[in-house]
Amino acid sequence: MTELDILVSLQDQDSILDALTQKIESLPERVDILAIQGKLESLETRKLELFGSQSETLNRQKALELEVDKITQRVDRLTGQLKSGAVTNLKDQLAVSSEIENLIQSRSSLEDDLLRYMDEIDRGEHELAVLSDQGESLQDKLAKLTEQAKVKLSEIEQEIEKETPERTRLASEISPGLLTRYEKLRAKLGGVAVSRVIDGKCTGCHLSIPVSELEQISHSDSSNLRFCEQCGRIAIYSRPGV
Ligand SMILES: [Zn+2]
Repeated sequence: MTELDILVSLQDQDSILDALTQKIESLPERVDILAIQGKLESLETRKLELFGSQSETLNRQKALELEVDKITQRVDRLTGQLKSGAVTNLKDQLAVSSEIENLIQSRSSLEDDLLRYMDEIDRGEHELAVLSDQGESLQDKLAKLTEQAKVKLSEIEQEIEKETPERTRLASEISPGLLTRYEKLRAKLGGVAVSRVIDGKCTGCHLSIPVSELEQISHSDSSNLRFCEQCGRIAIYSRPGV
């Protein structure tokens, strides 16, 4: 086996490992998990908003209830005064009656506000319940997806573990200078530094190699590398049936 043959094997092995890493990055569960996490976040934000506005409305409701109570007490007191006959003067009686009437009117408008607040609180509670249900079902999905992803991830990691020693072995059989060159090209060319030349075509870019260059490539070795003029990869001649 020439050094170039080993280099081709190293490229094959690296491509296997790259594909496995790519598989981890593009796990469908990963995309779904991110989407669910995003949904859960906006759900929590909405819940916090709602908690805030609910407690504000509750405070307003309580203050209003106190006010209504005060008015009721005042109305009761004034009504009591009228009924007891304590107010003897007609003018005073009329004044008290008119105050009672005014008080009842303003109480009725406050009670309308109270109803509105109670309505608001009911709606808020309903929305909170819906959000909680949605949150729970999203959490369930998230747990399932995380479990699935974990299983797949560990399978892929096992494959990587299985393939890595062969990569290390092949790399150790290549001279440091060539290995560095290979690694640099790999980083530049999307992980593929070496291309086979089969039937006059480069497997890296699928373009035809000029006949004159083909001849050179077929005689190349590790001290006399040839590169595909189109894609810049180390071009290695692959004899039919090899
Ligand atoms: Zn090429």
